[in-house]
Amino acid sequence: MKKSRKCIWALGLLLVAGCAGPKNVSPEDPVDALKLKDYDPVSVFVMEEHHPSAARFSTIDMHSHAYRNDEAGIRQWVKTLDENNIEKVIVHTKAFGEEFDRLYDLFTGISDKFEVWCGFDMTKWDQPEFPACAVKELERCFAKGAGGVGELIDKGLGERISSAGREVGLHFNDPKFDALFEKCAELGMPVSIHSGDPIWMYEPLDSHNDGYMNAKHWWIDLSVPGTLDLDGVVDAFVECVERHPNTTFIACHLLNLNHDYARLGKILDSHPNLWIDISARHQETCVTPRATARFYEKYQDRILFGTDNDPDPDMYHAQWRILETEDEHFYLKEQSYHWPMQGIGLSDTVLRKLYHDNAIGILSARKR
Ligand SMILES: [Zn+2]
Repeated sequence: MKKSRKCIWALGLLLVAGCAGPKNVSPEDPVDALKLKDYDPVSVFVMEEHHPSAARFSTIDMHSHAYRNDEAGIRQWVKTLDENNIEKVIVHTKAFGEEFDRLYDLFTGISDKFEVWCGFDMTKWDQPEFPACAVKELERCFAKGAGGVGELIDKGLGERISSAGREVGLHFNDPKFDALFEKCAELGMPVSIHSGDPIWMYEPLDSHNDGYMNAKHWWIDLSVPGTLDLDGVVDAFVECVERHPNTTFIACHLLNLNHDYARLGKILDSHPNLWIDISARHQETCVTPRATARFYEKYQDRILFGTDNDPDPDMYHAQWRILETEDEHFYLKEQSYHWPMQGIGLSDTVLRKLYHDNAIGILSARKR
């Protein structure tokens, strides 16, 4: 009798919990019944919280995209930037030709907070005339007002932005890119390149994959012929940086090496023409908050702030909480991994360089 009353009480609790939001799980075997995709923990820790509503210092976002495509949306974005103490945003269009011109006119016509960067024209990438044609288009975009090049991407199959549908593109150490990167140096255009992806995307999708919850969305199939693994992509990028010492390179997303700060540090040590942006990697770096804070401290002259995310107020507020506070064990509204977030609590000296001074150094070194 006693036992069955207990069961009814437990069932009642589950039903109440079900009404409150979380998905019901079987009372018989809840661990087996709960699907990994439904796991949605809520922090129980009672601790002081900090929610900065704006960046502590005036900020330059070195990695964003054309997330708004209409005048009203862009004006709303400018309002959010003002409220968050962001003075400038680099819009990586990845575009060339008419699309670049359209985006350039749209953004710069609304606010001088936006600086618009172009892509490479890859349309003839597998034809002999590619370098000459692409350089010509780069010069045209520069004359139109492009302040740099971004974002170029190679996750293993080569640069494919403008070669959609092709099997394999070019890696950045391919000599066919030489004339383009040299032209960037001549024109003083910094180049932002996304090489690889977080390490979990290259590992087997099995029960040992530490970042499984996100890897399953972005997994890279290394069995596809011609695909480089993360080491291969990073090596190709580093060779490119080495070959063009007069070109300023920005490795997006910490060169996707936040799992191996020693290696990333060595690459920065030996390549003075290289910077890294920290965009869209808080979820990867927060899992090791102390190692990340130490790395940012040590390489405070080489790191750039970027967001690379939909520019709504919550996204910006999360940046300030993570970088400026020491809040622990909290979850964001949208989160891809199974682990909680941690504040990194950077010093004012590091924050000033990260948010602003390092970017100014790169942008003001340009020739116009
Ligand atoms: Zn991006």
